[in-house]
Amino acid sequence: MTSIATHRGQPIISPDKDRFLTEENPFEAMMSRFDYAAQRLSLDPGLYKVLRHPEKQIIVAVPVHLDNGEVEVYTGYRVIHNSSRGPAKGGIRFDMNVNLDEVKALAAWMTWKCAVVNIPFGGSKGGVICDPSHMSMPELERLTRRYTSAIIDTLGPDSDVPAPDVNTNERVMAWVMDTYSMHKRHTVTAVVTGKPIEMGGSLGRREATGRGCMIVTLKALARLGLPVKGARVAVQGFGNVGSITAQLLEQAGCTIVAVSDKTGGIWNAKGLDVTDLLAHVRKNKFLTGYPKGEGIANEELLTVDCDVLVPAALENVITSKNAGSIRAKVICEGANGPTTANADRILEEKGVFVIPDILANAGGVTVSYFEWVQDRGGYFWDEETVNQRLEKIMVRSFDEVAGMSDTHALNMRTGAYMLAIERVAAVHRLRGMYA
Ligand code: GLU
Repeated sequence: MTSIATHRGQPIISPDKDRFLTEENPFEAMMSRFDYAAQRLSLDPGLYKVLRHPEKQIIVAVPVHLDNGEVEVYTGYRVIHNSSRGPAKGGIRFDMNVNLDEVKALAAWMTWKCAVVNIPFGGSKGGVICDPSHMSMPELERLTRRYTSAIIDTLGPDSDVPAPDVNTNERVMAWVMDTYSMHKRHTVTAVVTGKPIEMGGSLGRREATGRGCMIVTLKALARLGLPVKGARVAVQGFGNVGSITAQLLEQAGCTIVAVSDKTGGIWNAKGLDVTDLLAHVRKNKFLTGYPKGEGIANEELLTVDCDVLVPAALENVITSKNAGSIRAKVICEGANGPTTANADRILEEKGVFVIPDILANAGGVTVSYFEWVQDRGGYFWDEETVNQRLEKIMVRSFDEVAGMSDTHALNMRTGAYMLAIERVAAVHRLRGMYA
């Protein structure tokens, strides 16, 4: 799948090139969970068919003038999985591993995620196959603007609203918003979320996914009767989600025993100082070389002795190969799709409490919703209000998912899918089918 990817005419051999070949295809992984939950709900066969199909799949060529005068043509995708509950919502990622099946899976996960936290959005996702770490700012800007204009007919505050995802950020969202607004001939802030604060972004949005992860982790510890103080936490991924989750869990009294980024991990059984780690990363870009701990490989981090494991990097990292060696009692899925369906079964047998991605990392899209509301109302909230409302939604959603899983004696993942599918299905039933 990734073998077609080139950068500046050179094929890129990604270190992750076997990721989708050795584990399940991400769309199939999503679908197997969907199928199981749909079966448990005795979902009407017609609706089942409808929800298995994304509404729209767009593939675009994105030609870009590189700084050296050459032209490179990138491939971009935007998939709208479902828009029955409201405008489709979902991030844009720039990554060499982007492919249509991945974007389809991520779009469907957005549908379920928005339904789990009960915000009035459907699900979408976009991506461009590229390696932004090898591109200059002007090249990235041209890529973003050309991709935005290629998918512009689907975008809009009432139809499809992007946000940051892997390797995209506020800067990229500013370009998306500006390109869209230039075409519309007036400023449209609500067309993207995760924008800079100065141009209609929401306070608290940058930290929202990590904050949501922290809130549901504390809920899980309370449910299992485990103390927060001294709970040992390992976090894979030290980007926006992983670093904020680590910082907030440390502030809540947990001990962060291991963290990792794509260069490798740092382990210290006595605890790491997250502020110090962040200062190191600000200076050196990556965790590598951090002196106050032992270096470990990224995969090793997943199996260190800890109480809580937070996979906050990429898909398919917890697989049938390593699930049996995981020692954590709680897994909080900061990333989308970090656990394969086969690994789920192993974790369940071991009694690991998994807070599924569509609940665990829903804090981001929840504050995206707040941002969209603020943009449309033209009235902005203070950070305390944002955080309080986020907490209320995360706590309520955790309780609803736990309630569903208790009622049906199923794990939290199936509980979350059942809750989400039921909410989306209810709207389909009410709206009926346009023929
Ligand atoms: N990319 C984030 C996610 O996967 C945020 C999406 C959004 O805010 O629209 O949940």
